[in-house]
Amino acid sequence: MAKHYPADAILDLQNFGEFGGVNPSIEDSSTYTFLHASSMEELFEVEKEGCYLYSRHTNPNNKYLGDALAGMEGTEAGHCAASGMGSISSVILQLCSAGDEIISSRTIYGGTYAFFKNFLPKFNIKVTFVDTTDLKAIENAITENTKVIYCEALSNPLLEIADIPKISEMAKGAGAQLVVDNTFTPLIICPKTHGADVVIHSLTKFINGTSDAVGGVACGTKDFVASLMDVNSGASMLLGPSQDTLRSASILKNLRTLPVRMERHSRNAQFLCEKFEAMGLKVKYPGLKSHPQHELMTSLMNTEFGYGGMFYLDMGTLDKANAVMEAMQNANIGYLAVSLGFSKTLFSAPGSSTSSEIPEDEQESMGLSDGIIRFSIGLDQNIERTFERMVDCIKSV
Ligand code: PLP
Repeated sequence: MAKHYPADAILDLQNFGEFGGVNPSIEDSSTYTFLHASSMEELFEVEKEGCYLYSRHTNPNNKYLGDALAGMEGTEAGHCAASGMGSISSVILQLCSAGDEIISSRTIYGGTYAFFKNFLPKFNIKVTFVDTTDLKAIENAITENTKVIYCEALSNPLLEIADIPKISEMAKGAGAQLVVDNTFTPLIICPKTHGADVVIHSLTKFINGTSDAVGGVACGTKDFVASLMDVNSGASMLLGPSQDTLRSASILKNLRTLPVRMERHSRNAQFLCEKFEAMGLKVKYPGLKSHPQHELMTSLMNTEFGYGGMFYLDMGTLDKANAVMEAMQNANIGYLAVSLGFSKTLFSAPGSSTSSEIPEDEQESMGLSDGIIRFSIGLDQNIERTFERMVDCIKSV
């Protein structure tokens, strides 16, 4: 198979503005006119290139962004939503009906976990949480009702790596779809090229990169994306998590600089993690040989983008983690904030924030200690200075 170049796939797409602008025009209409009543009737039945009906269904800006992200992921199509959760919930409700089962990684974003654990049972959809780094555990959880295997390519917050090729084989054997959330590793891992059926992103994070917008995308086959948008039965169409055109246009512009941003995030994280490890701190980062799945990650990734901008330090206790985070914020190293992928470093203690939906005993069993600080490292130019300031903060508490 020819190598997929995700960054060039984004740049190759040309969508000129109304007057030949280098960026597409921003569509400012919720509805579209038709010259003939019969063409309106037709568009309700089948999608037609260049024809739009109503903005909740789709609109030019959402289509351009969806196409660009599908290009990046190497899928046939992509459909944008107003948040990552909007994409996740639509995909799952499109693929599963009452009586179906999902096998999910136990280390996933807290909101997804809560949706699976607390919300889906209302629809009689059962979710079994397993350690997806243990392929036997996945195999043992498969039943004749398994419809979806769900994981994050690089998991939030424990930074476990999904063995997508092997999990995809298991999904195929079970007649299930493999859905992968690739929010932590855009460009770095292309799950579809390793066998995933549907790839999801929270665009809110690295892809947008400016912490000013919330968005999501689901990338998959043309048929699957069309099913999400079906006027009679599509989860996206009927639940309505539609992205605003102005936001889609701004996210598309930011997407074009993602390749250089990811390289810098990765370079900075790699530098800091090697230094922290040498100091004897408890650090987890897929770019370190000490990460138990370092080799798997190396085999899955597009090496030019590095191992990503996410790592964690385990400070031992929540009190120490909190004190270090406050010291770092006071020293202007970054912000004590949830989310990730911003130009400035963001840090939070996931056990008491983004993963707090996961009960404490389950957090403990999966190794999510409350002393963990999750970092999304920024685009700092002088990373040695950042390192020195971080060490001062750690030593000060
Ligand atoms: N997936 C992952 C891995 C996340 O970290 C998040 C949010 O933190 C989401 C999905 C949800 O995205 P959003 O906040 O855009 O709905």
